[in-house]
Amino acid sequence: MLSCNHGANYDLSILNVKRIDIETGQIDNVDIYINQDRVAFIQSANLKDLAAKETVHAKGAFAIPGLWDNHIHFRGGESLLRDNEMFLEQLIDFGITSVRDAGGDLAISLKRWQLEISKNERIGPTIFTSGPKIDGRNPTWQGSLEVESEAELDQALDSLERLEVDFVKLYDSKLNGNLFLSALEKSKARGLIASGHMPFSVTLNQALDAGMNGVEHLYYILKGSSKDELEITKQFQSGTLGFWEAMPLLINSYNDSTANRLFNKMKQQEVFVIPTLNIGNTLSYLDETDHSTDEYLNLLSDRFKSTYERRIKSALNSTPETRDNRKSLNTFLRKLTLKLHDSGVQLMAGSDAGAYNAYVYPGPSLHEELQSLVAVGLSPLEALKTSVINGPKWLAVEEDYGAIGIGKKADILLLKKNPLIDITNTTSIQAVIKNGLYFKKTY
Ligand SMILES: [Zn+2]
Repeated sequence: MLSCNHGANYDLSILNVKRIDIETGQIDNVDIYINQDRVAFIQSANLKDLAAKETVHAKGAFAIPGLWDNHIHFRGGESLLRDNEMFLEQLIDFGITSVRDAGGDLAISLKRWQLEISKNERIGPTIFTSGPKIDGRNPTWQGSLEVESEAELDQALDSLERLEVDFVKLYDSKLNGNLFLSALEKSKARGLIASGHMPFSVTLNQALDAGMNGVEHLYYILKGSSKDELEITKQFQSGTLGFWEAMPLLINSYNDSTANRLFNKMKQQEVFVIPTLNIGNTLSYLDETDHSTDEYLNLLSDRFKSTYERRIKSALNSTPETRDNRKSLNTFLRKLTLKLHDSGVQLMAGSDAGAYNAYVYPGPSLHEELQSLVAVGLSPLEALKTSVINGPKWLAVEEDYGAIGIGKKADILLLKKNPLIDITNTTSIQAVIKNGLYFKKTY
């Protein structure tokens, strides 16, 4: 193998790294050779170095595939375009080389950035996007596709296909339950992957039967784990019970065997769950945590920071009982995450960073999500898997990502310390390689 590559001229060589296999946790000492945006050759680090246009001596740094943030939002309208653009470079700076945009109102700019990044004309992560969310009339989020009939649903899916989105994101602020189920069935028939929030007017079992591929956040898992789900669904349908009011009832009626049946079905159907633990924690403790000295705030425009006010006000104006409920819910959902994981349901690490989501910053928040996953009981290796392996697996692009191997995308994170020993070591960034370009961390 060595002889046929002798004298070859690679674009970039990264010499002497401890490559971590995120599937197995095995570590080997290798030299990595890159051509354009792919890994072209790998050899044992004790062999003779091959020629390359640019050579980096990594001095035994740990190498893992670039991180994936599997739930992020580029949004806030044209007036926040600058902030959203700035996030692209920040994400690379924090070692995040791919993101899954779970819906926003900047689809046109996002498609342009996607293309520019793929050609290395702009620095940023590879963007997989749902485009605008599908919701009902007068939805919470600007830019959503408003669907109130089967015909409007067909039009919405047509427009998403024209936009060549990577998946379909459904949202529950106004979407009718039957149309939600129909959206899942129709997405599947078109060969599109679909994930989302689930209207409480349907059961999780119905959503799984209709072909839901991904569940964003844990509220819907909690609902499906209740022995009283049918009764609670009926109350919701009749308008006698609201979303947040339902939470204490769901916690009290949580049932292990109901949950086990459900989780087993999700495992069989390969339905992935995005727990977004870190934002849950951040929003549940807005009344106790002082964020005023968060360094990242200095990077944000005043207009962007003003989008945080909605959530801050609602946290501060709520009654002590509501705040306590929120915290108990947060604690319960963290336990539920481990149960999902132990049952073999595949999780995806996602931060939910973006405008309006107070103090959840694109970049650092994914590292915090990994730390949260470890805090609830996953091993560091399992947590990393939810980011770099499950992300591409869910989007069916695992051939290109998930490992540092020949033919894979040259998206690599070099760390000074071993992340398998301590998950906070994902922040000990020495350098980031994105699309074959080398970015050394300067601090
Ligand atoms: Zn979100």
